[in-house]
Amino acid sequence: MAVDADKCTGCQACVVACQSENNIPINEPDHFLQRRAIQWIRIERYWEGEFPDVKARFVPMLCQHCENAPCESVCPVFATYHNNEGLNVQVYNRCIGTRFCANNDPWNVRFFNFWEPVWPEPLRNQLNTDVTVRSRGIMEKCPFCIQRIRRTTRDAGIEGREVEDGDVVPACVQSCPTNALVFGDLNDSSSQVAHLREDGRQYRILDHLGTEPSVHYLAKIDPYAASEGEHA
Ligand code: SF4
Ligand code: SF4
Repeated sequence: MAVDADKCTGCQACVVACQSENNIPINEPDHFLQRRAIQWIRIERYWEGEFPDVKARFVPMLCQHCENAPCESVCPVFATYHNNEGLNVQVYNRCIGTRFCANNDPWNVRFFNFWEPVWPEPLRNQLNTDVTVRSRGIMEKCPFCIQRIRRTTRDAGIEGREVEDGDVVPACVQSCPTNALVFGDLNDSSSQVAHLREDGRQYRILDHLGTEPSVHYLAKIDPYAASEGEHA
């Protein structure tokens, strides 16, 4: 995935879309206060300067699907592992809730279900039948909307064709009004994400840890930067 920080307005449409698509439990205010809210994608806000000269910066943060993921090696039951498509996947019915993976996750993008998920009656009707409802005691996180990858692959197979760049659209990507999020296959050199990876603004968060994240960020362009070509 590529995330263009210059296009992100912090509107949080991606957050709502992810919650809805993936049957993420409702976060009560208390859950945030206890730091137990579940958000597979969140918008990190950074403020620069002093009022009234303040600039807001937004960084969408989700599972980085690292090639060398530190959360995978510590799971005693292989509930999280790397699949042959390069995804860091989570097998819910294998998870025994040790939370070792969350302890070893530098981005804080893994979430533990401290409570049994409950939806008020009308909202139960909007649960996505393609996605498991996780019970109490289970770790969960962004799987790059794997249900959509599977459906697209299956549909392409029925139509007798290969999956093309842009066919797979995760919920967060679909909902983003500014196209700040782009999803695709980094192994396909002609894909949009592969091109964005070569952009001069490209960087990876916590790259120095050597985990090889698969999410590439594009730095914000500051029109008022001190020198030409400088990024915020
Ligand atoms: S790819 Fe899917 S699961 Fe991951 S943050 Fe986006 S909407 Fe949520
Ligand atoms: S929907 Fe797009 S613009 Fe809005 S917060 Fe998410 S990434 Fe940023």
